[in-house]
Amino acid sequence: MSYDLIVIGSGPGGYVCAIRAAQLGLKVAVVEKRKTFGGTCLNIGCIPSKALLYASEMFEEAGHGMAALGIKLPAPELDMPAMMKHKQDTVDANVNGVAFLLKKHKVETFTGHGSIGGAGVVNVTAQDGTVTALETKNIVIATGSDVAKLRNSKGETITIDETTIVSSTGALTLQKVPGHLVVVGAGVIGLELGSVWLRLGAKVTVVEYLDRILPGMDGEVAKTFQRLLEKQGFSFKLAAKVTDVNPSESGGASVSFEPVAGGASQSLGADIVLIATGRVPFTEGLGLETAGVALERGRVVIDGHFATNVAGIYAIGDVVRGPMLAHKAEDEGVALAEIIAGQHGHVNYDAIPGVVYTQPEVASVGKTEEELKSAGIAYKVGKFNFTANGRARAMRHTDGFVKILADATTDRVLGAHIIGFGAGDMIHEIVVLMEFGGSSEDLARTCHAHPTLSEAVKEAAMAVEKRQIHA
Ligand SMILES: Cc1cc2nc3c(=O)[nH]c(=O)nc-3n(C[C@H](O)[C@H](O)[C@H](O)COP(=O)(O)OP(=O)(O)OC[C@H]3O[C@@H](n4cnc5c(N)ncnc54)[C@H](O)[C@@H]3O)c2cc1C
Repeated sequence: MSYDLIVIGSGPGGYVCAIRAAQLGLKVAVVEKRKTFGGTCLNIGCIPSKALLYASEMFEEAGHGMAALGIKLPAPELDMPAMMKHKQDTVDANVNGVAFLLKKHKVETFTGHGSIGGAGVVNVTAQDGTVTALETKNIVIATGSDVAKLRNSKGETITIDETTIVSSTGALTLQKVPGHLVVVGAGVIGLELGSVWLRLGAKVTVVEYLDRILPGMDGEVAKTFQRLLEKQGFSFKLAAKVTDVNPSESGGASVSFEPVAGGASQSLGADIVLIATGRVPFTEGLGLETAGVALERGRVVIDGHFATNVAGIYAIGDVVRGPMLAHKAEDEGVALAEIIAGQHGHVNYDAIPGVVYTQPEVASVGKTEEELKSAGIAYKVGKFNFTANGRARAMRHTDGFVKILADATTDRVLGAHIIGFGAGDMIHEIVVLMEFGGSSEDLARTCHAHPTLSEAVKEAAMAVEKRQIHA
């Protein structure tokens, strides 16, 4: 069998690339080693985590948020099997949706481990060991990422058993609410999954190597976020280096850590330990060495057009440089399919939003203040608090603010950071503005419906020139 394009991996990078290429008239196949399509995102990432975040948020709302609105409810009761069924139903609907879309676009699918047998050949090894060799003009590596391993102070890998010491995958399938959940790593995944179990009744302690949470995000937003999470019940041990995690004989596990600056070692007992210290590109068993495809720190090296150093072999998504985000992988999939089809696909890496789906949400796009300062770029700041927004008051969601960063000379918007209810949806008008190279004045002069939370975005844009009306 011969194809124009074979994509290895069916995550948001791979399946989107395959569908776009098929739309453009190419003969396409996808190889996936999992039983279901959709990759990390749909099976064990974005989608199941958001199903549990929403369900646990509703549980928290029903327990604590209703009385102030004049709605009296008895204390809610947790039905864990039903909540997990909601999560699984959501995953099933999404992965089946991808299978339907691939079929609709006549993308052929192969279940098995894909490896590159040289330029133009992909070998698919099925579970029973049968190998099928497929010929193709182009190969796309879209094999995604895996959980980063954590090492103890002796350099040994800490074993993740997915029952007591878990990765995000195990944290999405716990059978009961842990008494004490210790999360190692204060990044997006650790804080989202920590929120799920905190809302359902766990005590949650987060141990983080850096002296701040949400590394890479705007410092002021991270500080506010930490304060709000502490108000919800989170405990943080910052600037703390985990030196070991060991299962206890009595069940549970203990986490040893010491101050990064040096000092006495401490330990915490936990029912469950979630290791959430990041993800690493996944290229195991792909045959990249034999094919001569270059890697750098585990990532497949690509040029500005997603091409590796071997002609006819490309790579996209978590397996290459850039933020490990589903929508970044999708956009790269579309751009690459268009390039292979002879068009001019392109991704604007300066306008890729990032969202933390907690309550409140945190959303950002473009540069942080820290990045602008270190690059020596002069900028103006416009900020507006949700306490001064009528809709936020009506909904009792007044925590947080919108911050817009604009170039001091040209007024072009360089970055935006929102912490607040619905931040993940609100950020997109600023993403569109940045895509078009817009200024804070463009945003400030755009009519926004009243009363909406989005008016805070407009007011923050007006605040860049200190002419906000409602503060
Ligand atoms: C808990 C969690 C929550 C997340 N939440 C979000 C979120 O809210 N928003 C967001 O943008 N991102 C989120 N992410 C990140 C997101 O899941 C990834 O950025 C995204 O899935 C990357 O897409 P991808 O196509 O590059 O790879 P993946 O989705 O990892 O897909 C790669 C696929 O390739 C397959 N594969 C690998 N090797 C082979 C092989 N040799 N042969 C055949 N198949 C192979 C794998 O089985 C997998 O299905 C989350 C991740 C996790 C873990």
